Amino acid sequence: MFNSLSDRLTATFKNLRGKGRLTEADVDATVREIRRALLDADVAVPVVREFTARVRERALGAEVSGALNPSQQIVKIVNEELVEILGGETRRIRLAKTGPTIIMLAGLQGAGKTTLAGKLAKWLKAQGHSPLLVACDLQRPNAVTQLQVVGQRAGVPVFAPHPGATSELEHPAGDPVAVARAGVEEARQKLHDVVIVDTAGRLGVDAEMMEQASEIRRAIVPNEVLFVIDAMIGQDAVNTAVAFDEGVNFTGIVLSKLDGDARGGAALSVASVTGKPVMFASTGEGVDDFELFHPDRMASRILDMGDVLTLIEQAEKNWDKDEAARMAKKFADQEDFTLDDFLSQMQQIRNMGSMKKMLMMMPGAQNIREQLENFDEREIDRVEAIVRSMTPHERVAPKIINGSRRARIARGSGVHVSEVNGLLERFGQAQKMMKKMAQGGGMPGMPGMPG
Ligand code: GDP
Repeated sequence: MFNSLSDRLTATFKNLRGKGRLTEADVDATVREIRRALLDADVAVPVVREFTARVRERALGAEVSGALNPSQQIVKIVNEELVEILGGETRRIRLAKTGPTIIMLAGLQGAGKTTLAGKLAKWLKAQGHSPLLVACDLQRPNAVTQLQVVGQRAGVPVFAPHPGATSELEHPAGDPVAVARAGVEEARQKLHDVVIVDTAGRLGVDAEMMEQASEIRRAIVPNEVLFVIDAMIGQDAVNTAVAFDEGVNFTGIVLSKLDGDARGGAALSVASVTGKPVMFASTGEGVDDFELFHPDRMASRILDMGDVLTLIEQAEKNWDKDEAARMAKKFADQEDFTLDDFLSQMQQIRNMGSMKKMLMMMPGAQNIREQLENFDEREIDRVEAIVRSMTPHERVAPKIINGSRRARIARGSGVHVSEVNGLLERFGQAQKMMKKMAQGGGMPGMPGMPG
């Protein structure tokens, strides 16, 4: 996502490095490059026009600061304008003051609504809410079952229509508006504090679907209407977003499939054209592939300045504090760093999520993108297999691991001897680093990253 846009923009800025002053011609050339990069990334034409006009005006204007060189100045301006286009400040869900918070999802079929419903439910649950999912997509065969599966994965109950029911309050079948109403009522009675209502989509915008969505909106008066859009749909994004905005007057945008190799234009256009903020990003098919959308962090990623804040949050969320405390104590006591510790650190890193996704958030990650793309997540499994094939004594005293022991370990773990050698070498470096840090009184870091 955004890879090629990111490459193009950073290359443009590189050209400015070493320049003492920016002439008007420099600015124009740079702005031209930015325009081309945005258009090639499928950003909508009016958005590009406005964006580049603002960058040009500001770059030529009085903002010249003594502290920044010309290339840094332009990066700063482009960064701020990107944040602006993406909706400015991070926008959080508005919770209802009384009764359940009602969140309605709308979007084309296949946009990722049902998947998102599960992710959002799980995310809210982790924050102490007690969500109920409501299945109002009665058009697509299997949509109800799909939501039930998603609900199960998220550990959240699903309210679904029941074929043959007669009264509206008993799971009515066939009428999505009635199901939505009944679902909200169910949430009230069962004291759920959030209701997420999944609605039907069509392959293209059509009047009947929009009317139905708009009727559901009137019936349940949601606190948030989230418009889910597939980031891969390119130039169509703008028309679709405008149609939905007119139809259901959504309050926020969710970009789905941001993990794909879409050029990213939709993301940059939709918020700008509708004036509604992007609130969430969906980044995969799994129930945890989901992030609160921070315009500033996304802009940072596009400009390859990294997203260290998200990285730290991921780490904090998944870091095993007891294990970290045990390591810290070991450290303070200057005990030896063993292969078991090494393995445990690797596992901690893995718990933080996909290694690739994490590393992509590091500043400058675009420079090593190719290596990252070839990075094999199973590397950690191999390390685990190798360490598990060692005897307890070998793990604390790796010096005794001679040639014949190496061969035995390789056989036991199903790898080549060279991999055992490689691991022992990396472990040796990690051990040295730990010793150095212990002497310097530093914190235990994350040595031994494969690569
Ligand atoms: P709906 O018709 O809007 O409810 O869309 P679905 O939730 O059924 O999603 C359509 C397809 O897109 C499914 O195959 C999902 O697994 C997939 N999908 C949804 N969100 C994402 C995402 O963020 N990344 C990727 N790669 N696939 C997604």
